Amino acid sequence: MDNKKRIISGMRPTGKLHLGHYFGVLKNWVELQNEFESYFFIADYHALTTKYNQTQDMKQNVEEILLDWLASGIDPNKSTIYLQSLVPQTAQLHIYLSMITPQNWVERDPTLKDLAKIMDSKKENLSNLSYGLFGYPVLMSADILLFNTHFVPVGIDQVAHVELTRDIARRFNNIYKTDFFLEPQPKLTKISLLKGLDGNKMGKSFNNDIKLSDDETTTEKKIKTGITDRNRVRKDDFGNPDNCEVIFDYWKIFGEEKEVEEICSCCKSASIGCAECKKRLAQRVNESLCEIRQKRSELEKDKNYIRDILLEGSKKARIKAQETIDNIESIIGMFK
Ligand code: SF4
Repeated sequence: MDNKKRIISGMRPTGKLHLGHYFGVLKNWVELQNEFESYFFIADYHALTTKYNQTQDMKQNVEEILLDWLASGIDPNKSTIYLQSLVPQTAQLHIYLSMITPQNWVERDPTLKDLAKIMDSKKENLSNLSYGLFGYPVLMSADILLFNTHFVPVGIDQVAHVELTRDIARRFNNIYKTDFFLEPQPKLTKISLLKGLDGNKMGKSFNNDIKLSDDETTTEKKIKTGITDRNRVRKDDFGNPDNCEVIFDYWKIFGEEKEVEEICSCCKSASIGCAECKKRLAQRVNESLCEIRQKRSELEKDKNYIRDILLEGSKKARIKAQETIDNIESIIGMFK
C-alpha cells in the first residue's frame, strides 16, 4: 500500500446519488481504488458553504451517500472512506493555508466568478458571499494537501482547483524553505456524461434523474418521460437515433452492441415505437443496476455497520492527517 501513489476525491452530501454521479464519478473511483492509495470523503464542511441554514437533512444525506458508495463498489478494505468533519485537521490545515494564500488567487476561481456573475445579474453584492464560501477553494486545497496527494481525479471543469492547490503548495514550500508538499496533478477522467431525461444536465433539483436507489417501477416510469427524436410524432414515422436526444444515448451506455444496432435499424424503419423502445431500455437499466440496488438494500438493514465503516475510515484518516499537521506546524515554527 505504501508504494502506491495517493489520490483523493470527495462529494458533498446532497442526498441519494443518481446515474450521472455513478457514470461520471463513482465507476471511476471503483477502478482507481485498485491502483492507488485512495481517500474518498463526504464533504460536509463544503455543504455548509452554501447550505449552512438547511442542515436538517445533513445526517440523512451522509448516510444515503455512504450507502450509494458502498453499494457501487467503493471498498473500505481498499480505500479510506471518511467524513470531512470527523477529520478536523482539514480545518486546521485550511487555516494555515488561508494565511499564505493571496486573496486574488481565490478570486480567480471559476466557480466563484460564475457566482459573482449570477449575483451581479441579481443586483446582489459579491461581498454578501459568506467568508466560508469565498474561502472554499482554499478548503479544497486543504483536503488535497492533507494527505499529500499525488493525483486528484477531476473533470475538466475542476482542473483550476488543482492548479490553485499546486500554487499554494509551491508557495508554502517557498515561504518555509521546505519541499514538504507535493504538487498534486489532476487526473483527468474520461467521463461518460449522462444527460437528464429532459436532455439537460442530470440533477436532483431538475427532477430529471434516475437514482441508483430508485425501484424498477420508478425507473420505468421515469424513462417513459425521456426525450426521443422530436420529429418522430407517430409510431409509423421513421425515426433517427442520431436525433434521439436522450433515450438512444442511454441505449449506448446500457445496451449490448448487437441490441443497440437492432434498435437503431428498427427505429429508422419505424418497426419499433418509442414506447416499446423505452420499455426495453428500462429493462436493461434495471438489470444493470440490480446488483447495486440489492447490495444497497442489504446494507440499509444494518445502519450501525455502515456507520462503523465511516467512523473507522475517519479514524484512519485522522491519524494520517495528524502526521501532516505535526509536520507542517514544526516547519512553520509553531510552539510545540
Ligand atoms: S425508437 Fe427509440 S431510438 Fe428511436 S426515436 Fe424512439 S426512443 Fe429514440
